[in-house]
Amino acid sequence: MGGEETASLTIVRTIRHEEERDYYLELPFELPERTEELHIGIEVEPLGEGRAVIDLGLKDASRIRGWSGGARTSVFVGCEKATPGYLPGELRAGTWAVLLGAYRVPPAGCRVTVSIRCVPETRRWLKGDLHTHTEHSDGTYTLREAGAIMESLGCDFIATTDHNTISQNDAHPKDTGLVFIPGMELTTTRGHANLLGVREPVRDFRAAGPDDLRSRLDEAKRSGALVVLNHTHCEFCPWEWGFDVESDAVEVWNGPWTERNDRALNWWQSRLAAGERLVAVGGSDVHRPHPYVRHAMPTTWVYADSRTSAGILEGVRKGHVFLSYAPDGPTIDLKIGTCIMGEAYEQGSGEDGEARLSLAGLLKGDTVKIVSALGEEQRYTAEKDGECSYSWPVLARKFYRVEVWRYFPEADRELLAALGNPVYLE
Ligand SMILES: [Zn+2]
Ligand SMILES: [Zn+2]
Repeated sequence: MGGEETASLTIVRTIRHEEERDYYLELPFELPERTEELHIGIEVEPLGEGRAVIDLGLKDASRIRGWSGGARTSVFVGCEKATPGYLPGELRAGTWAVLLGAYRVPPAGCRVTVSIRCVPETRRWLKGDLHTHTEHSDGTYTLREAGAIMESLGCDFIATTDHNTISQNDAHPKDTGLVFIPGMELTTTRGHANLLGVREPVRDFRAAGPDDLRSRLDEAKRSGALVVLNHTHCEFCPWEWGFDVESDAVEVWNGPWTERNDRALNWWQSRLAAGERLVAVGGSDVHRPHPYVRHAMPTTWVYADSRTSAGILEGVRKGHVFLSYAPDGPTIDLKIGTCIMGEAYEQGSGEDGEARLSLAGLLKGDTVKIVSALGEEQRYTAEKDGECSYSWPVLARKFYRVEVWRYFPEADRELLAALGNPVYLE
């Protein structure tokens, strides 16, 4: 199954009654490079009279990776998650083996059909929430409850960003399909910042003065965390440490769209116009059941290298991000040449560029704005629900980005429905 794209393999093994004595059987297979998840299933069929009981386990290139005896007929192993009884971790390419235990084999033997499916790492859009609280700080949700809500919304990931604590990162459920991104909201009296991607970004969260704050953020960066400045223009807890600190992204959209988000968006635009490349992300900041502050509102969409915490945060670092007010969109696909949001298109290389925008999940009447460093350049009104495409010739600009605005009767005003990061020009 070596060079195939999606590697699937079926092995049929007939087990003779006499093999009960040896009990342990190994079915070797080659695990391809860059596998993201491995799924194993077995079906056991007795030949003739009597019952067959076959145990299941898995061995990687160097060690036993898990054992479920007769308790399961399907298991999976990923980098961060695995079926209970199996160890998540690196999926190193090489010779692995499905382990079978011939516990009970009828006189005429039995037939075991083993299916092996290796899901390769694939770049794709994944969606989730980068800012949530649980019972590990001042929220009410358990991790399982939060995970179940995110899964019911069809989301791929959740970052657990409790205030000044990391105990939630040790309690992430391992047996769900949702990617749990470890995090902590560094919470000071002069501003909040999310530290994402590592279990323990700082050993001591306390920051009383600017020197402390700097050393906390330095430590977080050294430990590999992605730093997001949160709700920077909030009326209650804005970012007051100054913007010349180490950070990777800014939370332009915190919870329901209100004036504080308007101020953050205007500030972000002014930084972009000044030539900075600053990644905008969103987060619900949900703490407890609430009519408007809810998981994945807004949703952060990331073009991720793999469906892992590291793959998702690498996509954020690169700015391959757009935001929508809910998990079902609207979605933004903006390209110039082959460059996607967060990338830089080289102008003047003969081929004169065209920007192509495809939107989905629109409602009739939505306002689509194309924004550059000069401000709003074009405005369209969606003439129907669903999808829309626009294109325009690329002029000498620093970037192009997209906003979708929608009238919400509850608020009696237009609120942001989707926001894309820029495609830069150089
Ligand atoms: Zn906060
Ligand atoms: Zn928060």
